[in-house]
Formats: sequence, structure tokens, C-alpha cells
Amino acid sequence: MTDLTKLTIAEARDLLKKGDITSRELTEVHIASVDAADALNAYIAKTPELALEQADKADAKIKAGEQKGMTGIPVGIKDLFATKGVHTQACSHILDGFKPEYESTVTQNLWDDGAVMLGKLNMDEFAMGSSNETSFYGPVKNPWRRGDTDTVPGGSSGGSVSSVAGFAAMGATASDTGGSIRQPASFTGTFGFKPTYGRCSRYGMVAFASSLDQAGTITRTVRDGAIMMESISGFDVKDSTSVDMPVPNFEAALTGDIRGKKIGIPQEYHLAGMPAEIEALWQQGIEWMKAAGAEIVDINLPHTKYALPTYYIVAPAEASSNLARYDGVRYGLRDVPQNGGLVDMYEATRAAGFGDEVKRRIMIGTYVLSAGYYDAYYLKAQKVRQLIADDFKRAFEKVDAILTPTAPSAAFAFGEKSDDPIAMYLNDVFTVPASLAGLPGSSVPVGLDANGLPLGLQILGKPWDEETVFKVSGVMEEAANFTAKPAEWWR
Ligand code: GLN
Repeated sequence: MTDLTKLTIAEARDLLKKGDITSRELTEVHIASVDAADALNAYIAKTPELALEQADKADAKIKAGEQKGMTGIPVGIKDLFATKGVHTQACSHILDGFKPEYESTVTQNLWDDGAVMLGKLNMDEFAMGSSNETSFYGPVKNPWRRGDTDTVPGGSSGGSVSSVAGFAAMGATASDTGGSIRQPASFTGTFGFKPTYGRCSRYGMVAFASSLDQAGTITRTVRDGAIMMESISGFDVKDSTSVDMPVPNFEAALTGDIRGKKIGIPQEYHLAGMPAEIEALWQQGIEWMKAAGAEIVDINLPHTKYALPTYYIVAPAEASSNLARYDGVRYGLRDVPQNGGLVDMYEATRAAGFGDEVKRRIMIGTYVLSAGYYDAYYLKAQKVRQLIADDFKRAFEKVDAILTPTAPSAAFAFGEKSDDPIAMYLNDVFTVPASLAGLPGSSVPVGLDANGLPLGLQILGKPWDEETVFKVSGVMEEAANFTAKPAEWWR
């Protein structure tokens, strides 16, 4: 008997269509594998009854000839997507007990297509982090280990990547503000896809930095990413930043043909001190692209070195404002000191409810927005953000896609960077620029490092040209032929 958890979404879809399997069977097997993966700490809430209910509905849909790409497919949902009546806390203590009255548009799109929810996935608190060590529910473990040492799954979508790499979901929703889809995908040998800012609705996504936040997907293959992305994308009147553009058939973009495409290699991404293996893999990727008939073009993105400081001003500034709503009155936790007044209640609630990293961001954000510093930090950062976007605009006059490493390292051990915020932030060096410019991008698993840990390459595209990102990703996936799987120590 084939292990149904090892199927890709595309394979399951075809078997469901032929009637060889049912969504109920597929869902039951996945519910068991979710339980078997408890050691990964990827799920912080499980919804097996709901899953079976949705599976039966999906089976009826398929029988009625109404199957879509995601019909009957069991997925995990990052804890920052509002799911009606189900745990939604962005893995923060301050949202204790919060169960929204409404559904996010991204998840509603999935359910409308007949997808099945296995549960809510662990993440860095409010999506702030690169290692999933800031979650109130404890760290997520990467299915991939360095010898006997546990490694972080990356962040902030740690539960999303760990569940998908660990065969405890066929796909997962994720969100990317500065790299939270692409970096953890690279750390876990999964395919991460972040669309153009505005492609997906942010309605019902717990806000971190609203001008950067975008929903996206984690899957085991590029084709699966195309199928799932098509389901979650689309204009929504409930999000004024979502854009009214037709959603292309992303899967149809996977033609395998990139002949004549121009692929840019940004010289500024050759970081001093980057591991030689990552440089070598990047070079290998370039060779694969050439062999597939693409033309390699050296490009410059001169403001790259300012991207990280710019991001770590803009994102905390927006976060400090977005997180002001958690005051002990409207949501979740309320901490009331004896004989205290309203302000004491606010202070006690926020002191008890937010973790250290979130507090750090709120303080940075408040500082850069305060009178006297606003011009020097926030306003300046907004101007630099524009220059970074202009760099990409100019580059994309010459090329169709850009190829870079996804992250400057492979997965690291727990605690390795958690005492040093700057070292942690440096992990986002290759993902943050595209976030600031709102571009679509992916991370494709391409190889293993000397410790046997996965590494990914990042592919960036022009705004609204997700199709080229998928096309190039598909060719990269085929050339890399990344078939390694983690040893299933957690079962
Ligand atoms: N690691 C980055 C941060 O901590 C990006 C997070 C994200 O994309 N949500 O802000």
C-alpha cells in the first residue's frame, strides 16, 4: 500500500479524480500523521472532526464533478489566519483564548475549493522571527537534523514548513513579511512561494507590517505550489490593498521551457563570509539555467546593503502601530493588577502578553516614529525603500527573473542566534529586499550542505509575473532533482 502522506497534491488530485482514493481516506491518514508528528511541535491546535466533515463534503463535490485543484486536500493553516471558531493567536500569549467570529479570505478561498483543515500551525509570535523560537507555544523542530542535533525550521512560518516537510500536511498556508515563507522553505527542503503584494487578500490575517505582509504557500513541489497559490489568490473588496487582477492558471505556466529567458544575477548578493557551499550551489543553479537555454545576465541592485536596516525600521514601525490594539480590552488576555486603573491594566496586560522579541520590535517601532526621530529614521527608511524598489525596476528592464541564494546559511541549532538579534536579522539579508519592493518570489530546494541540511535558491520576478517565477522554479526543481528526505525520527 502506498503511504498516502507521501503523495504530492497533484498526485492526490489525480487519484481523487479517478476515484482511486477518497478525501476521507486521505484525511484519516493525515490526521494520524499529524498525531505522529507531535515531537515536531508544528501544530498548536488540531481540528480532526472539522477535517473529516470537510473531507466528506469534498468527496461529495468530487462525485458531483465539481473538483478543483485543492478539493479534498488536507492542509495546515498558519496560526495568523483567522479561522472562524478555531484557535487564532499568531502564537502570542496576548491573544489567549481568541477564536474569531470570521474567516480570513485566504482560508475561505481554500474551503470554497473544498480543501480540508488539519489544524493551526505554530509560528514565531506575530510572525516576528527567523527561527520559530519566539512562539508562545515553544519552538518548532525542523524534521532535518544536523547529526543528532535538532535544528530550527526557520521562521516565522516554522510550523508550516515542518508539517509539510514532515508529511503532516500536503501543503500549508504561510505569510511573508520579510522572508517568512522563503527562508524556512530553504531550511526544510520545501518549496515556498510568496506572491506579489496585493495578489492575496490580507483580510483576516493578523497584521504584523501591513505594507509588507503577504500570504503564500509551502508545498513539497513547485506544481503543488502553483495549485495551492491559485486557490488562495484573488481580489477581495474587504482588503483595500488587494488588487483587482485576473488570477492566471499558475500550473499552466509550468511548461519546462525557459529558452531565451534572461536571468539576472545580482552582484551585490555575493556576500563576504558566505559559506562556500552556498556560493557553489548558486553557481550550480546558474549552470542549470544556462543548460536549459536561459541567458544569464549580471545585474546590479546597488541599494541592497540598505535593505536590512530599512526593513528593520519600516516593519517595527508598522508593527508598533498594528499591535497597539492588544490592550486587554478587545481581545484575549487581560491582566488586572490589584487596585490598578485602566492604564495599569494596559501595562500589565502588555507586559505579560508579549514576548521579548515582540517587545523589542514595539520599542524600536515607537522610537523610529517618535517626534524628533521620525525624519531621521522612518522617513529616511521610506525613501530608501523606494530606491530599493527602483533598483529592481531598472533590473527588470533587462531580465525576466533574478536568481540568488535564499538565505546565507542552512538551518542552525536552537539557541545559536537567539541571544543576538542582529545575527538573527542577518538571516533575512536575501529575502528582505524583494519584500520591500513587493515582488513575487520563491525558494526552491536544490541540495544539501556538508551536514546533510537542505539549501534553497531564490527566484524573484516582476510584479504580477508569478507565472515566470513558477516557470523558472519548475525548471530549477527538475534540474536539481532534490529527492532527499529527512530521516523520520519523530514518528
Ligand atoms: N524574519 C523576519 C522578521 O523577523 C521576517 C518575518 C516575516 O517575514 N514575517 O521580521
